[in-house]
Amino acid sequence: MVEFKGYALTDPSAWSTLSVVNYQPKTFEDDDVELAITHCGVCGSDVHTLSQGWGSTGTLPLVVGHEIVGIVTQVGANVQEFKVGQRVGVGAQIGSCYKCKRCKNNNENYCADGMIDTYNAYYPDGVFAQGGYSTAIRANQLFVFAIPEAIESKDAASMFCAGLTVYSPLRRNGCGPGKKVGVMGIGGLGHYAVLFAAAMGAEVYAFTHSEAKLEDAKKMGATHVISTHSNDFYKPYLGELDIFISTIDVFRPDRPLKTYMSMLDVHGKFINRAFLGGSHIGSKDDCNAMLKLAAEKGVKPWVQELPMSQAKEAVEK
Ligand SMILES: [Zn+2]
Ligand SMILES: [Zn+2]
Repeated sequence: MVEFKGYALTDPSAWSTLSVVNYQPKTFEDDDVELAITHCGVCGSDVHTLSQGWGSTGTLPLVVGHEIVGIVTQVGANVQEFKVGQRVGVGAQIGSCYKCKRCKNNNENYCADGMIDTYNAYYPDGVFAQGGYSTAIRANQLFVFAIPEAIESKDAASMFCAGLTVYSPLRRNGCGPGKKVGVMGIGGLGHYAVLFAAAMGAEVYAFTHSEAKLEDAKKMGATHVISTHSNDFYKPYLGELDIFISTIDVFRPDRPLKTYMSMLDVHGKFINRAFLGGSHIGSKDDCNAMLKLAAEKGVKPWVQELPMSQAKEAVEK
């Protein structure tokens, strides 16, 4: 029997202490791609899941990680798009029903009927899905992405969740030259929103409560950087923006949603963080367009690399 190895949560009271475990992968099917993992990003979801911030994690041991880069080691009989030895990525979703209307029209990331998360979920064969802090993973080819030569693996990894989660709503809501795009919350997702909106040719307005991030946002390509410290911070921008990407999940009482909405033009669009709805990761079609743009425009995330054996330090950071 094939076994993969990963850094797993085994004791929720020590959430960042991950132990090496062996586990059984899903049954290899004709549409599957297997990859040997070389890189995996640390997503906020990993930390929420490990620290039980989204409620108790039922099944243990649990390997998290869904910003995965690896080298293809095996392809199923139906797979033509990928070859053994190719460098590919896998993100936060690893399966869907493949049959519903959403799956058939490039909206598989909204599949209503058979959505499978990359980890902490069950495959149809009953096997528990383990993530990318591990040696290998198997994914249906619809959830595998070819990585252009121009993008280094360390830069590509976090694109498959954080990058795609903001790129997809930018693309689907008409971000491009002539558009004014606000970004609120310059963290993992927000920094990608600034990078991609700028790469797409939009004029970017970055809003942050952290003075230290104002300079960073400029370096990422924001034309305007706005501190939200003053109560009147939004007043110069009333009706100004076409698209507003919010990556925060809680509004301060003195900075309610309507403060941000007031900066939108007529029919402007406010798009909130994926996990609250509004937008959920992105489809393969979105992902391929993102990678093409990143390769062409040289979009590089701000990342820090650590060896997988320092997973504890990585999730704590
Ligand atoms: Zn994620
Ligand atoms: Zn479906």
